[in-house]
Amino acid sequence: MITRIEQFKKKFPKEPKFRIKQIQEALFKFPDGSWEDATTLSKPIREELTKSIPWMSLTLESMQEDFDVRKALLKTQDGQMIETVLMMNAKEQWTVCLSSQIGCAMNCAFCATGKMGLKRNLTEDEIVDQVRFWQSQIQLEERISNLVFMGMGEPMANYDSVKSALNTILDNTDLGPVKITVSTVGFLPRMDLMLDDPDWPEVRIAISLHSVDSIARKKLMPSSTPDFLNDLRDWCLRYLEKFGNNRHHLTFEYLLIKGINDSETDAKKLARYIHSIGHAKVNIIAYNDTGMFEAPSTATLERFCDILQRSEIDVLRRRSLGSGISAACGQLANQ
Ligand code: SAH
Repeated sequence: MITRIEQFKKKFPKEPKFRIKQIQEALFKFPDGSWEDATTLSKPIREELTKSIPWMSLTLESMQEDFDVRKALLKTQDGQMIETVLMMNAKEQWTVCLSSQIGCAMNCAFCATGKMGLKRNLTEDEIVDQVRFWQSQIQLEERISNLVFMGMGEPMANYDSVKSALNTILDNTDLGPVKITVSTVGFLPRMDLMLDDPDWPEVRIAISLHSVDSIARKKLMPSSTPDFLNDLRDWCLRYLEKFGNNRHHLTFEYLLIKGINDSETDAKKLARYIHSIGHAKVNIIAYNDTGMFEAPSTATLERFCDILQRSEIDVLRRRSLGSGISAACGQLANQ
């Protein structure tokens, strides 16, 4: 699908290049406005654009709210639904959780989105417009300080649109690259591409690891390959050689599931794996119920984190928001 900027260029090939920048500025400044707000364009051009290109590619279908989290169901131009989440973070600013696809092809056993299968990739506009949508929802004095690609979909499987969306967001907001995290199942062919791609911005990368036992991981994450853990280690070493510094560490997400990957041995194996990579952080997330497994007890969770800490792993127990409105990690499935 062709983006609104490409459509504009096609319609008005004689307009100077700086118009694009002006349009992008207006799009971000007036997220719930219209082409009439792009006042640097002539009246006839604005009228033509109003007729042919939507100012916002997504419309609000419904909103659910909890204490410090909001989930929006948004409708695309072709009538599909996506979910996006706004969460209060530790700095009392907002983190937006973005979707990159409608559904997902990765089919992870614990994830509700995976059960939908993949409907299609989101366009660059649809990714960018989730950010614009939330900008239009928050108060003037409030601020979106972080973005995470942890909503529906596998961002690396929609590499080109995610990349352009990232660059557009970086160019038109006050967000720096380290305030944005792209989370992936570990889609190595695209991650390889990323390492040599001069246009890929230096955003943070999080890898959903969830198990360091290759057979157990394959059961949880069918996209895993037999040699995944070794290949991932190689990739991480190359990444760290290229980008590794205080601002660019890698993060591993580890979803703790009762009786599946939460034993002391699992914790020790995980610590060994992380040490074999070096500079990396681990986020422990308790499984949010999607009807497939059981969550670990708080005691198990604490013991697991404790073992990692004693092994000098930089571990964070990620607090889970939004389960009251099915907006937590893995629960997005546009019901
Ligand atoms: N496809 C990407 C991003 C989307 S999921 C990825 O896999 O990383 C974002 C995070 O939520 C991932 O770490 C994912 O494994 C996790 N997640 C999925 N289902 C979950 C569940 N039921 N409970 C907790 N986290 C879950």
